[in-house]
Amino acid sequence: MEKLYEGKAKILYPEGENLRVYFKDEATAFNAQKRGLIPGKGVVNNKVSAFLFRHLEAHGVKTHFLKELSDREMLVRRVEILPLEVILRYRAAGSFARRYGVEEGTPLQAPLVEFSLKNDALGDPLICENAILALGLAEEGELERVKATALRVGELLRGFFAQRGLDLWDFKLEFGRYGGEILLADEISPDTMRLRKDGEPLDKDRFRRDLGGVEEAYQEVLRRVLGG
Ligand code: UDP
Repeated sequence: MEKLYEGKAKILYPEGENLRVYFKDEATAFNAQKRGLIPGKGVVNNKVSAFLFRHLEAHGVKTHFLKELSDREMLVRRVEILPLEVILRYRAAGSFARRYGVEEGTPLQAPLVEFSLKNDALGDPLICENAILALGLAEEGELERVKATALRVGELLRGFFAQRGLDLWDFKLEFGRYGGEILLADEISPDTMRLRKDGEPLDKDRFRRDLGGVEEAYQEVLRRVLGG
């Protein structure tokens, strides 16, 4: 079957009016300057994303998810992705901690929603809401919808992971337009979030920082997500 698009971690295939998403084991970090393989990652990310999309749908969040097709594949609605990375933060980490010179893990006074422009050539620069509107990347109503949904998703995921002994520090979401609606899209996986167990990373930070035990960390997240 002909690919529609191949990204760093996923391949998209047309499937009737929908899309089939295939999750790869390839991993990249630091805007693809670091590359590697995390065996089994594709299976973990597909299953974790599917479980979380279902959980969110059950709590009233509209997503592009339709069903799991195999260990590494899911069927999703074909949305028009907004060119934004929506980042929710509960504790300082990564680029945020560096930008403001705060220690990793510092709790934030309130959940923070940040936007980056999805543009690899520019290194996904931080973008403010006025610039999003000025550039016509999203309409005001869409942006309000995105923010409110992201905060609701954050609340649900923080509780979900807390019940499983994991502290969700931050995560990235993407949204798409679909028939006049805004749907949560892309993936929600250890590739796109920071999860800590007793302060220890169980996510892509193990790969970014060469901490070892990367495969095991992804498997541990899957076990905890499925195990309830
Ligand atoms: N993130 C992501 N894709 C990106 C950039 C960030 O999934 O292209 C996730 C990242 O895994 C983390 C959160 O968004 O959970 C915040 O990332 P940050 O801005 O700190 O970027 P980093 O320094 O990790 O690149």
